[in-house]
Amino acid sequence: MSTFQDFKFNKQIIQAIEEAGYQTPTPIQEKAIPLVLAGHDVMGVAQTGTGKTAAFVLPILMKIKYAQGDHPRALILAPTRELALQIEKAVQTYAQYTDIRHTCIYGGLGPKTQIETIAEGVDILIATPGRLLDLYSREALVLKDINTLVMDEADKMMDMGFMPQINSILEVIPVKRQNLLFSATMPEKVVKLSEDFLEFPERVEVTPQATTAETVDQVVYEVPNLKTKINLLQHFLKDEEAFSRVMIFTRTRKSADAVYKFIARKFSEDAVRVIHANKGQNTRINSMNAFKNGEIRILVGTDVVARGIDVTLVSHVINFDIPLIYEDYVHRIGRTGRALQDGKAISFITEADIYHMQKIEKIIRMQVPMAKIPAGVDIPDTPFDEAQAIAREIDRQKRKENPDYKGAFHDKKDKSKGQGSKNNGKKNSFGKKLTSRKKKK
Ligand code: AMP
Repeated sequence: MSTFQDFKFNKQIIQAIEEAGYQTPTPIQEKAIPLVLAGHDVMGVAQTGTGKTAAFVLPILMKIKYAQGDHPRALILAPTRELALQIEKAVQTYAQYTDIRHTCIYGGLGPKTQIETIAEGVDILIATPGRLLDLYSREALVLKDINTLVMDEADKMMDMGFMPQINSILEVIPVKRQNLLFSATMPEKVVKLSEDFLEFPERVEVTPQATTAETVDQVVYEVPNLKTKINLLQHFLKDEEAFSRVMIFTRTRKSADAVYKFIARKFSEDAVRVIHANKGQNTRINSMNAFKNGEIRILVGTDVVARGIDVTLVSHVINFDIPLIYEDYVHRIGRTGRALQDGKAISFITEADIYHMQKIEKIIRMQVPMAKIPAGVDIPDTPFDEAQAIAREIDRQKRKENPDYKGAFHDKKDKSKGQGSKNNGKKNSFGKKLTSRKKKK
């Protein structure tokens, strides 16, 4: 496995990566970054959640180095305003210790501020195709210095009918440039586009490790809220015999600490340890060894730390939160003991996670069966703030999938009041019936 040091990034970039809490490159980063740094045209087949944004942004920052001139040198095209803003946020994070200037332009609002920002000088421009051409035709934008072009989510760009705009853009930017094309899928039309516009591209792909997923016994519990997750966790952990070596994954350090504290209080401090990036290297190694040797029954951690460690043969992997880097799901569940008959992967999902679970299921190419919350597990009402956060997240997902979606957050707000978010066979926001999954005994 490579490390970020292997890429020889400058210290400003390394510092930003460290602060972001990334320990090791994701598979797409491991494969794509050296090729981009070497100046190749690259075609990346990777879905959102694989770390693909950093896979192109980090080497571009190395190439751009520092602020220079007035006109953008790297152009990143994205199909939607949502994605463009997300990419800009990534650029902002990774470039924070450099003087590199970046801006994001997209339609749906007046161009005045965007024009003014561009006039102040830009190194990296993130844009949706329509607005880019609009500002170019107003002569608010000079594209003659572009030497790197990225097309992100090329499949979506084509599905949305941006081909004519893309062709116009290709006509006005310099011919001599490095091209990077990223796409979640590779239908014929994207292959054709890549042939037209990439020169001797290197293809990198993150292949979903479907086989691991198929051999592990997996199950999903849909829970309305955090409190129910905790109650369900407690219910499982009470069965010390079956749950003999349990690894619990959370999305954040904070949540890892909270779960750890809960278990230490309800069971025993001697039964559990927590590992995440804020714990020192020695503490992490000690905890891991104690878990491996069977001195402690439960280990709680985040992916960032857990990805690199070598602990297999656990009786249960519990995804207290499912991962947003969808490939991590496969890494996590790969730790359950295939030799042990009761090796199981259990995932807790809220309504806001259904979107992510569907993406995970796409990667593992199977549907994970859903189980009913066992009788005796208390299912409290969802607090107002939590219900709102869930509704807001679902809105964000819908906007991401459909840029024309205006948002139903305000409708949802009242509905969620007082009644929690118990589903009662209701449809979720994707129109999919929550109870339609196969139930497992
Ligand atoms: P993306 O696929 O680019 O949308 O990235 C998905 C998420 O993964 C983002 O929230 C990133 O901040 C995060 N991420 C990217 N690279 C890494 C890494 N090497 N380690 C941990 N998280 C990462």
